[in-house]
Amino acid sequence: MSTIIKETTKENWQQQSHPARLEERLPDGLVRCHLSPRNCVIKEGGRGFCKVRGNRGGRLVTLNYGKGVHLTEETIETEAVFHFSPGERILSLGNIGCMLNCGYCHNWKTSQARYVTDADVHYYTPEQIVETALRHGIRILSWTYNDPVVWHEFILDTARLAKRAGLINLYKSAFFISEEAVDELLPVIDIFSISIKSIDPDYYRKVTTGWVEPVLAATRKVYKAGKHVEVSTLMVTDISDDEQTARRISEWVKAELDVTVPLHFVRFHPDYKMSNSTRTPIPKLLSAREAAHDLGIQHVYLGNVNGVDGTDSRCVKCRNLLVTRYGLNARKIGLDEHGHCTQCGHDAHIKLPLPPLPLETVVPDEVSLEGVDLRRFEWHGDIVSLHVQALNTSPKEACIVHRRRFADGSTGPWVKVHLASGESYRFIMAKSREDEVGPEVGIPQSVESNLHEVFDRAHFPTQSIEEVGVSHSDITPILRYAGKQNMYDQLRKEGESA
Ligand code: SF4
Repeated sequence: MSTIIKETTKENWQQQSHPARLEERLPDGLVRCHLSPRNCVIKEGGRGFCKVRGNRGGRLVTLNYGKGVHLTEETIETEAVFHFSPGERILSLGNIGCMLNCGYCHNWKTSQARYVTDADVHYYTPEQIVETALRHGIRILSWTYNDPVVWHEFILDTARLAKRAGLINLYKSAFFISEEAVDELLPVIDIFSISIKSIDPDYYRKVTTGWVEPVLAATRKVYKAGKHVEVSTLMVTDISDDEQTARRISEWVKAELDVTVPLHFVRFHPDYKMSNSTRTPIPKLLSAREAAHDLGIQHVYLGNVNGVDGTDSRCVKCRNLLVTRYGLNARKIGLDEHGHCTQCGHDAHIKLPLPPLPLETVVPDEVSLEGVDLRRFEWHGDIVSLHVQALNTSPKEACIVHRRRFADGSTGPWVKVHLASGESYRFIMAKSREDEVGPEVGIPQSVESNLHEVFDRAHFPTQSIEEVGVSHSDITPILRYAGKQNMYDQLRKEGESA
């Protein structure tokens, strides 16, 4: 039997600080932070709204440089990016803290610094991140989860190094960010996946604690700079899942960006201060998609749904199927190497800058399972993806294998994941078709491991099933927020009386 990873006691993550950029020094030892539009003025010893930037000795510092959640291998679909290298493996990198406090945040445990414990925090250098990506054959770094805005200095340092090593940088954010900070990102970030929660200023203030104007300005700016941009909007049940919300965001994309920019309507699940709600009804998502299409948006997708029309890419001219997707898996079937339709030659606006890179798969009898602990997991309800976290305690390289199991008893090929001596690695497995019943993972004895249920894309679970068991809920993650959860009721009442 392989053993379960036990977290050892770690240092207090808030102790060490690092000089911050975008500082304005003020009289009386005060500093102003110019990273997000809040422009917090912070006194000696204090911290800003995000709780990960502060004033130490009259200078602005960051408290989370090199400190994040565990790095994780995922696919680019996790980041609501459908028009850049479909199916590409990415290295997802999340940190701690956030410049917003959205009532439905599904990563609230790490985005809101007050809930972060030392066990949640992992320490990295820019060199370690780049080296890990290269060793695992990963070509895209994704700055994601809580929100990359508040990891500015570490991202700049690492993304620069990554670029020199030939890697691509993806930035998935709510993008409540200053224009000065965007100027610093432009030389190193290639892809922006931007979550615009709504176009309604009132909604923004109430639900996110931020304001919409800087988000729109920053999105416009990166698009005008020629970056690859995709936009997503969370459709919150009975609050922002109406056609009017879909129309307003579509009109904005059409007027300020372009009708070829992919737009994703994302299914909501109850969480954080909105745990007393329900998942977005699928018909609402389909209506939103239709409304966007009617307004001329060419590539409209639905997120956090499986087996529903709205995840595949089709040629806008001849309707040829270009890319099929199920969950976080994608298969290119009707695209030539330039991203054009193989049937009619029309430009699909899908960038394919990277040559195909197959996974290292092996036929069953080439895998020795001697001394290997076989762990099985069953997909259930809305739990259709899983993080496997593994720590190689051996002085030699170790190899994990995993494969898919189907309802008729057949299996997919084994896929290998190599771990260097002492390496801690985390990777996702996601359901790939309707009849897939779950994954099977082979863990050598020298490797300690934990499994984490992932609830919807870009969710970073902090608790493993070894700690809290398998969830029985079909609508929300197992980790429940202990504070007040009535934001959903309040907003709904306000909406009804408006
Ligand atoms: S990043 Fe934003 S929230 Fe954090 S200290 Fe700077 S201005 Fe304030």
